[in-house]
Amino acid sequence: MTDSQHKVLILYTGGTIGMKDSGEGFVPMDNFGDFFKRKIDESDRLSIPSFEFKSLDSLIDSANLVPMNWTFIGQRLLKLWDDYDGFVVLHGTDTMAYTASALSFMFQGLNKPVVLTGSQIPLCKNESDALDNVVHALQVVAEQKINEVSICFDGKVLRGNRSTKVKSAALDAFNSPNLPWLNAKDIDTETADIFLLPNVTRQFLVPEFDCNAVLVLQIYPGISAQAFEGIFSSNSFKAIIIQTYGMGNTPNIDSSLLRILKRAAEAGIIVVNITQCMVGGVNQSTYSTGSHMQDLGVVSGGDMTLEAAFAKLHYLIACQYTSSQVKQKMLTAFAGEISP
Ligand code: ASP
Repeated sequence: MTDSQHKVLILYTGGTIGMKDSGEGFVPMDNFGDFFKRKIDESDRLSIPSFEFKSLDSLIDSANLVPMNWTFIGQRLLKLWDDYDGFVVLHGTDTMAYTASALSFMFQGLNKPVVLTGSQIPLCKNESDALDNVVHALQVVAEQKINEVSICFDGKVLRGNRSTKVKSAALDAFNSPNLPWLNAKDIDTETADIFLLPNVTRQFLVPEFDCNAVLVLQIYPGISAQAFEGIFSSNSFKAIIIQTYGMGNTPNIDSSLLRILKRAAEAGIIVVNITQCMVGGVNQSTYSTGSHMQDLGVVSGGDMTLEAAFAKLHYLIACQYTSSQVKQKMLTAFAGEISP
């Protein structure tokens, strides 16, 4: 049975959901749109909104995603925005949280659901999780309650820019460790309403992204200053995310690392501090191994996920804000991505 009250667009970008066995690993299957519609028709699920199915011109395994793919997805949604009540974006799981974050910044103040989903097992396999995920995503759009960019997976609805892929093979692949689920198949929607985004002025902007703008560097025991030296002498990037320990700590016995960070800050390279911990965030004033970061002008990423911080930096740089504007905006929530 379909609900024809709502008009939904399913935009297929690639990923496991539409793949088949090739003998040498999964590859995208031909005519996935037809196969998909047949599967939905056969599934006999209740109350599925009517939908149209469109594919991006080039389908990717999302492990191959580059920031410019966000522009292609964003442009497509922007062009079709007024024609539909909401959107389901079928996407590979590997970088789904990055794309969800990027879309949340490009579509600030949106008034319709944009739900990303995919599957761990291709739709063509009997044991696939694809149908459950897609049907749930379509229902989330039809309900018209979660008017933001979300990820719908294994029965949960998560804020897109708070999500991260936490399991490589299990069906409950996603979670949002620093924010309760927006909804789940078994919980009362009224309870979840408290997590809805505050009203913000609509600002839809789909910029062209520079793949080289943001660098990510993880701190590890014994990291050498020379490693940093080489990186900072290249001028192709404008921002760096340092994934630090705990509350935002880096080794401070070797002061050359700190000098290099200082040089980066002086050169106008934005440095953002994100914790390696799954839960909680950065507070640079807790330990002396963190407070020097503050003194060097390193911006605290608070409790943002790596994916959200990465996409937000890309977005702000692509929008051509100055580095002091980027630093200030990194601390402000645009789409519920960071706790106050
Ligand atoms: N490598 C695949 C992708 O991200 C994995 C998946 O879709 O689950 O496109």
